[in-house]
Amino acid sequence: MNERAAPQYCPYCGEVDLRPWGELTEHAQYRCEDCLRVFELRYRGLTGRD
Ligand SMILES: [Zn+2]
Repeated sequence: MNERAAPQYCPYCGEVDLRPWGELTEHAQYRCEDCLRVFELRYRGLTGRD
């Protein structure tokens, strides 16, 4: 499975118009087309269930 996890909406303004941004790196980057912020998704590891 090589599909990257995509965000559903911008964490800053809530817009859903996101596009992949920048170089393909270990951490997927996306730009919000509304507020133009670029952010990065990181996998932070697993947690246990509470
Ligand atoms: Zn935004």
